[in-house]
Order: sequence, then C-alpha cells, then structure tokens
Amino acid sequence: MSGPKVLLPGATLGVMGGGQLGRMFVHAAQRMGYFTAVLDPDESSPAGRVSHHHVRADYLDEIGLATLCGHAQAITTEFENVPADALARLAQHRDVAPGAAAVAIAQDRALEKAHFVRCGVDCAPHAVVTNEEEVASVDDDLLPGILKTARLGYDGKGQARVRTRAELRAAWEQLGRADCVLEKLLPLAFECSVVVARGHDGAMVHLPVQRNLHREGILAVTEVHEGCIPDAQAHRAIAAARRIADGLDYVGVLCVEFFGLEDGSLVVNEMAPRPHNSGHWSMDAADVSQFELQVRTLAGLPLVQPRQHSAAVMLNLLGDLWFARGAAEATPDWAGVLALPGAHLHLYGKLSARKGRKMGHLTLTGPTPAAARETALAAARQLGIATF
Ligand code: ATP
Ligand code: MG
Repeated sequence: MSGPKVLLPGATLGVMGGGQLGRMFVHAAQRMGYFTAVLDPDESSPAGRVSHHHVRADYLDEIGLATLCGHAQAITTEFENVPADALARLAQHRDVAPGAAAVAIAQDRALEKAHFVRCGVDCAPHAVVTNEEEVASVDDDLLPGILKTARLGYDGKGQARVRTRAELRAAWEQLGRADCVLEKLLPLAFECSVVVARGHDGAMVHLPVQRNLHREGILAVTEVHEGCIPDAQAHRAIAAARRIADGLDYVGVLCVEFFGLEDGSLVVNEMAPRPHNSGHWSMDAADVSQFELQVRTLAGLPLVQPRQHSAAVMLNLLGDLWFARGAAEATPDWAGVLALPGAHLHLYGKLSARKGRKMGHLTLTGPTPAAARETALAAARQLGIATF
C-alpha cells in the first residue's frame, strides 16, 4: 500500500472475485455512495451482476487486471484463492488491501501455521508432508489425524481423516501427492471465529466471538450472543486474532478460526484474508457489518468498534434445501420463514442449487439469546435444517 490515502464516497472500489462475499461487499460500498468494479470470469457471478462494472476475465489476465485498475482506485479481494501474484501486479498501480504477502500466507496452510507459531498462538500439532520420506516419518502422536492439502482447500475439500500410517499413505496418493499438512485430530468442545479489521495505521477493531457449527466440513450455524463462548476463551481468541493480524501488518478484514478443546484450551485452526461466512450475522445484528469494515479499511476511513445490538443466530442456506422435499428442485418456503420475528433473508442470486452450494443465509435476531435461538430453531424446522 502506498499510504493512508482516504477515498471518499464517489470513488470506485474494486474487488477480485465475484462470489457472495463480493456481492455483499458491493452492496455495502454502494450503500455508502461508492461505485464498484468486480473482476470475475463468470458472466453470472453473484457480485458481477450487482456491480456498476463487471470485468469478465481470469484473475491473471493482463488486460482484465488493467481494466480493473482503470475503473477502481483501490482493490480488495473476496476469494481466498485469487492468486497472490494478481494482487501484487495490481498493487503496482493501485492501493490493494489485504496485500499480496498476507494473502499468500493465508493461502498456504504450511506458511499459515508457521505464522501462527511465530505469533506465539497455539495451533494443532502438525507436520508438513511434501514427499514420501516425510509421509513415512510423521510422528505417531499425529495419528489419528486429518491430512489437508496445503493449498486450495475450502469447505472441507482437499481433506481426509486418517487413522493409520497405511491410511495416511493412501490419502496422500488420493490427494495427488500434493503438499499437505497432517494435523492431529483434536477433541473439539466447540469451534469459534473472530473477525478483525485493521487499518493502514494499525488501528484495529473486532466483532464479538462467533460460535460455529460445521456439518460435513461446511459451516452450518453461527451463534453470536452473550455466553455462547466461555469468557476466558473468548478473550484469548480476540487477543490471538489481533496478534495474528498485527504480525502480518494486515490491512483489511481478517477472520481467524479457532477450536475450543475439551480441556479448556484454545487453538487456532486457520485464517481467511477476507470477510467470512461466520461474520454474516453482523449485517443484521451489529451497527457496523464486516462488509462495511472491509469498505472502511480499503477506503482508509476511520474504524470504530462495532456494537452488537441483538443476539443473532445465522443459518447457512445450502443447495440441499432446494431438494428437501424430493428429487426435483423446489424453492424453499421463504414466505413461511419471513413470518418469523427477526428473520433476515439473504440470497446470493445463484442460478442453480446444488448439494453443498452456499445459496444464501438466514439471520435470526432477537432481544435475548433465548429468543434468537428459539426463532432459529423454528426456522430450521420449517426449512428442513437439522436441529442444533
Ligand atoms: P473452510 O471452509 O473453513 O475454509 P476448510 O476446508 O479450510 O474449511 P478446515 O477449517 O481446516 O477446512 O476444517 C474443516 C472442519 O473440519 C473444521 O471446521 C473442523 O470441524 C474439522 N477439523 C479440521 N481440523 C481438525 C482437527 N485438527 N481436529 C478436529 N477437527 C478438525
Ligand atoms: Mg475452516
């Protein structure tokens, strides 16, 4: 970044990637009076369809990157796997946040874990495996474990649970002998995440700690309210997330995921260099959302600590729900769930539903944690989402 230049509303903000996170960034930016430009190869990308400008090009396409620079004064990213090199190239011409170096670390589990260790934040015992010798010589203590590809994994893809050395070997073959990290399988009491936003000047704010429930490797439910995480672990998670952002000299929105273990300890799992699915509740239950924080960090505007004004439960709406009543695709009963008090529906404008595809989310807000939970359980029953 070239420095703390302030871009006021009326400027154009760019985003690499046109998925739902880009769409919600575009909505936040437009609400504040910015113009927007999205680079994504897909003609019908969720963000491309709502942006003032949509550059249809691959992430490394020279002309596409130049066109984006022509439209936008500053550029952010919404998709973890946008090549860091594309960000580095954009940064020669425009302010880019987060920077390529931080994104490159977040894109590689081995580098990411090394960064956590450097920051003095505990992570799961692990080993990097990149060749047959390393596969053969992992510590017994790491089994049973989870083998994860170092790069390009998401929503539990590129992972395999392994109990024995033979299974480890077979899983590594199955993953195409890619560079991997083997992590010890930990006894999780809960999962949580923290969204932090850090400005050019190092100023930092954060959202409250979010309690996350994953199903089949995909986030299913996030709860954010008083008491959803034990206080001691919540404080440790916030302090760790801030240290991790500081250590990267990060500019932008960063989400850090943690595991709470049965013995009361907390370990960091991974980070995402962008707003995160677990922070979506902030659009409806906090006075500043994670997407407004992304706009503010990119534009060099002041960061103020967001205030949560309602208890919140977020339910992910996966493509499975379109098939809840049989083999034929059928739109869920939105009118039914919208009759619930405090229901906020977000759909991402994706053209077709598929199992496991994130189609939207529903935030249920309430005056108390019990009220928000009760409405969320009612919504889950109506939609065919398993109870939690
Ligand atoms: P994301 O979509 O969050 O990027 P991902 O595919 O990168 O997901 P992880 O977050 O590494 O994957 O793992 C997905 C889920 O698998 C975790 O949220 C957790 O439920 C489980 N998991 C991962 N690592 C471990 C571990 N070491 N011990 C126990 N459970 C784990
Ligand atoms: Mg994860």
